[in-house]
Amino acid sequence: ASEASDYDIVFIGGGVAGYVGAIKAGQAGLKVACIEKRGALGGTCLNVGCIPSKSLLNNSHLYHQILHDTKKRGIDVNDVKLNLTQMMKAKDESVSSLTKGVEFLFKKNNVDYVKGTGSFKDEHTIKVNLIDGGETEIKGKNIIIATGSESTPFPGLEIDEKKVVTSTGAIALPEVPKKMVVIGGGIIGLEMASVWSRLGSQVTVVEFLGAVGGPGMDAEIAKQAQKILAKQGIKFKTNTKVLKGDASGDGVKLDLEAAKGGKNETIDADVVLVAIGRRPYTEGLGIENIGLELDERKRLVIDQEYRTKIPHIRVIGDVTFGPMLAHKAEEEGVAAVEYITKGYGHVNYGAIPSVMYTHPEVAWVGQNEAELKSAGVNYKVGTFPFTANSRAKTNLETEGLVKFLADAETDRILGIHIIGANAGEMIAEGTLALEYGASTEDVARTCHAHPTLAEAFKEAAMATYSHAIHF
Ligand code: FAD
Ligand code: NAD
Repeated sequence: ASEASDYDIVFIGGGVAGYVGAIKAGQAGLKVACIEKRGALGGTCLNVGCIPSKSLLNNSHLYHQILHDTKKRGIDVNDVKLNLTQMMKAKDESVSSLTKGVEFLFKKNNVDYVKGTGSFKDEHTIKVNLIDGGETEIKGKNIIIATGSESTPFPGLEIDEKKVVTSTGAIALPEVPKKMVVIGGGIIGLEMASVWSRLGSQVTVVEFLGAVGGPGMDAEIAKQAQKILAKQGIKFKTNTKVLKGDASGDGVKLDLEAAKGGKNETIDADVVLVAIGRRPYTEGLGIENIGLELDERKRLVIDQEYRTKIPHIRVIGDVTFGPMLAHKAEEEGVAAVEYITKGYGHVNYGAIPSVMYTHPEVAWVGQNEAELKSAGVNYKVGTFPFTANSRAKTNLETEGLVKFLADAETDRILGIHIIGANAGEMIAEGTLALEYGASTEDVARTCHAHPTLAEAFKEAAMATYSHAIHF
């Protein structure tokens, strides 16, 4: 039973999930508010995640390329210098123009932006501790929790964001550390290792599993990625556990335990990045006041329509189930509003792409080989290497391959895995194919422009259903 409410929908959290949902609700003509406590919209992604990390990845790649990869292209360059302050400024400018852009979109779509920390007083009322001081209360007929996630701490290593950093500190280091150790070889670990290694740091990645890349990445592709990144100068210690760390001295010392057979050692670093995953964030949200509970991984529990056990309170983005990705959060923002306004919504969780923005990039959508094997699916594989692609050859960027996994009988695409210079853009085509239930023959019979890297995508599809032409 709903009582008199000030707003049709109140969003708690102005990250990608919350701000996209709020705009969608505004477009539907609803009275909508979005509460955000960090003083800027866009959440982790715009402020300290996707956007600043991609700015640094792009510019550090350019710097590294100018240093090491121009001679063979017929370009002689002298006196290349790093201006880290300017690189950070460029990053900050990208961030601030985007966050201001979201604020403008709020105005355009009549979303009330409430700057403060929201906490449930009761099932319809949220108390807001305003950033500028004071308190207010707002009521929502519907409330959508979109409070995101935070970095998982490493027990015994206190984060100071200077010597022991999360990704937030790692995107804002004032100077290039001489030695950096990254705990966790997932996406954050490898992206940040790339940035600082390119800028001159000696980087070691310690990963307790036998492979890098985090969950979802196909094993064959992960192996290639590790090999290529090692060639770029990043050291890897896989099958290795960090036992404990000590940051009491000048730098940081880490005690490592190698898997069976290996020897234990202590390594030191000027900066240690803790990148062992992220966990849902609900601190100070007052869920205990309305009887909502977290599961064993601290996620808020929801049904298929994002509803908690209190049906007018929904949850989207990193703070609930599913991959912690900005585009997944964004899709859920739209779908949750559509459930409220129309009674139906749509997110295909089987077709959410992942991209690691290293160089080369790694991108995938759908299932990997290990997942298909464990599900007992009879599948076939087709690959095409970029060494055989004409555009990759002219670009002098021939590392990597495109790999299709398809149902052995029906030829329906089940997964696409790419490592290559433009993988992150190319995976959009793969996602569309998967979404439309395409077969590899459908892709193989689609004309692709020449000369483009995308021809490798087509040829990998050809290799899956019959034969590639150029390999
Ligand atoms: P968030 O973006 O975390 O937003 C939640 C917001 O809620 C925050 O701004 C927080 O301040 C606010 N909040 C929390 N509690 C309250 C409260 N009680 N009251 C008011 N406000 C509150 N994903 C990708 O898809 N691509 C990438 O390239 C990528 N790169 C990343 C790089 C890094 C370094 C990191 C850390 C993450 C990256 N991610 C990337 C993941 C992506 O940032 C998240 O999946 C995405 O931000 C989730 O959106 P969200 O809205 O659920 O949560
Ligand atoms: P992750 O889960 O991708 O990787 C964490 C890695 O740390 C895993 O490989 C795990 O085996 C390892 N690990 C865990 N505990 C360890 C320990 N004690 N010692 C050594 N290794 C350990 O997490 P992440 O890289 O921290 O990223 C967090 C989230 O942010 C992910 O969900 C990711 O999808 C998202 N993100 C996405 C992008 C992108 O899309 N490009 C970029 C950055 C972050």
